Amino acid sequence: MHSASASSPLPHHVDAVKLCQQGGHLSGSASFAQLHRLGDQLCHQNGQAQVDWQFSLDEQSRKVIHGTVTAVLPLVCQRCLEQVDVAVQADTSLALVWSDEQAAQLSRSLDPVLMENDVLDVLATVEDELLLALPIVATHEKGVCEIAQQFEELLAEASEAEKSPNPFHVLANLKTDGNKTS
Ligand SMILES: [Zn+2]
Repeated sequence: MHSASASSPLPHHVDAVKLCQQGGHLSGSASFAQLHRLGDQLCHQNGQAQVDWQFSLDEQSRKVIHGTVTAVLPLVCQRCLEQVDVAVQADTSLALVWSDEQAAQLSRSLDPVLMENDVLDVLATVEDELLLALPIVATHEKGVCEIAQQFEELLAEASEAEKSPNPFHVLANLKTDGNKTS
């Protein structure tokens, strides 16, 4: 029941109140091209976020959404400015509210989604979840950056060069020896 629906596109809007009352399930994908605020931070828009949400009423009859939003985001590495693919998972715990007072009454484990009527903007909510889950600074793992690789190649070349005798190498040795004896 998951496999077929997992990659189908999400509806832009759903009747969230009805889904909560029915204990409905929503799963599908949102393409990066649909997520405009997120798009600014992406290297390209070829890809999609996967959403798996369970709507329900909690013990206090609040309308809540639990589940996950996952995506592999093509972010910009802040060290080398090349693309770095970052796997992001947002654990969704949302409560639908219709006023700031309702939002203030929520426990810390629930994030409010301010509603105007019964309709939830699914894509905007997915986007909010992803934006909150973004790493503060995206970088490649140490040593993976293009620049780091080039630097390591240079270092490797330099150490190769050191193996062949050259005057600078001898000088360097002399200096080191001098330091050691002093
Ligand atoms: Zn990098």
